[in-house]
Amino acid sequence: MAKKRVAVIGAGPSGLAQLRAFQSAKQNGEDIPDIVCYEKQDDWGGLWKYTWRTGVGADGEPCHGSMYRYLWSNGPKEGLEFADYTFDKHFGKEIASYPPRAVLFDYIEGRVKKAGVRDWIRFNNTIRDVRYDEGSGKFTVTARDSVNDSETVEEFDHVVVASGHFSSPNVPYYPGFESFNGRVLHAHDFRDAREFTDKDILILGTSYSAEDIGSQCWKYGCKSVTVAHRTAPMGYDWPDNWEEVPALVKVEGKTAHFKDGSSKEVDAIILCTGYKHHFPFLPDDLRLKTANRLATADLYKGVVWNKNPKMFYLGMQDQWYTFNMFDAQAWWVRDQIMGKIDLPDQAAMEADPVAREAAEDALEDDYACIRYQGDYVRELIAETDYPSFDVDAANQAFFEWKKHKKKGIMEFRNHGYTSPMTGKKAPAHHTPWKDALDDSLESYLQT
Ligand SMILES: Cc1cc2nc3c(=O)[nH]c(=O)nc-3n(C[C@H](O)[C@H](O)[C@H](O)COP(=O)(O)OP(=O)(O)OC[C@H]3O[C@@H](n4cnc5c(N)ncnc54)[C@H](O)[C@@H]3O)c2cc1C
Repeated sequence: MAKKRVAVIGAGPSGLAQLRAFQSAKQNGEDIPDIVCYEKQDDWGGLWKYTWRTGVGADGEPCHGSMYRYLWSNGPKEGLEFADYTFDKHFGKEIASYPPRAVLFDYIEGRVKKAGVRDWIRFNNTIRDVRYDEGSGKFTVTARDSVNDSETVEEFDHVVVASGHFSSPNVPYYPGFESFNGRVLHAHDFRDAREFTDKDILILGTSYSAEDIGSQCWKYGCKSVTVAHRTAPMGYDWPDNWEEVPALVKVEGKTAHFKDGSSKEVDAIILCTGYKHHFPFLPDDLRLKTANRLATADLYKGVVWNKNPKMFYLGMQDQWYTFNMFDAQAWWVRDQIMGKIDLPDQAAMEADPVAREAAEDALEDDYACIRYQGDYVRELIAETDYPSFDVDAANQAFFEWKKHKKKGIMEFRNHGYTSPMTGKKAPAHHTPWKDALDDSLESYLQT
């Protein structure tokens, strides 16, 4: 019988988890399917591969990157650590808990370099179209190679969509934006906080992006940060030149007017208004439509596309857990594809995300959400040979992180947590985050 063929779309942390999952089975002597991973960028790492580009990439396609210079992990590394490749193992020593982007990229890359899966990836290849044919039971995948300026059309038995969901910005309109005498940008296009040194900035939103982009601009010397919220303020103990105000109503010239009648003159408006799950390469019958939440719609076990279970999605959940959750999903998907895990009947598959959504809706606070996602990770890894790890210890790192943020929003990154994989406590970084302007790998790893 011909070998199964599996297409993986995207070589970010989720897609790479899928490659590593198959490679680990191969390493154990198992006969794995043929894998082709399509990646539209010229390198792996997904969002963690920094690009200065905004708007369009070198290929003329929408730019994937949403990360910026000086980004440090916004959650503790102990919550995302790979169970099969610890930080300790990669760096040869314990490192502090909130690595900058370059350090995390190095860690992600270290595992897959060691696994030797780079040859499985077709870089500079953007998936344009995926179709399923009921007759043949196969997917036809169309990709455009931007370097060779050529198209390939190939058939696969399974498709794993790992294209991320923090790249297509949700951009609201407010009256006066078209005549604002400053810059209006979405967080997706934010690259360098130094652009806003000595500027008054207005941020819309209360997400991680709002909190972190505001903090970056504060760290690199902006004059003031104003954050407008539609529902509730973030409520941290912000520095003196930072205020939270009610929703933006309109802009006149450089003046922003808020719902409580107050106003403020600002130089730039940064829209931290979230992202859309956007799959321009998928037809309606294969396309996930979900809110950004912990229990995604229509995915059995959070990964199997209920309307065609030969297709899978990775990493489509809102995320407390990241890299090790993608691993848990990828190992599970691998075993399903390789026939080691059976799917239940259609009714049970459809009931699964509905039950998960109801359970999520009943959660009372962020702590419960963290436990919920930790339980999900635990559930998946119990069904595969992914190395089991102490999920409670990972939850604990998240709990302490939340408490430290409450205590000091500009200081939380100075703390260290216990690894759920090694049981060792991370050292404090040599320089407090607010003073550490050099975020290079070399600087971070100095002791
Ligand atoms: C600003 C920002 C900060 C973040 N900070 C953290 C953090 O501190 N800690 C943390 O754990 N998580 C963080 N995240 C969450 C982040 O989502 C995950 O860490 C991780 O990058 C998700 O991996 P992914 O592979 O699912 O998606 P991505 O990293 O987005 O990778 C998807 C890949 O798919 C490729 N792709 C997309 N479309 C196509 C196509 N049509 N054809 C071929 N290839 C395609 C892309 O080029 C990309 O390489 C952050 C996210 C953002 C936006």
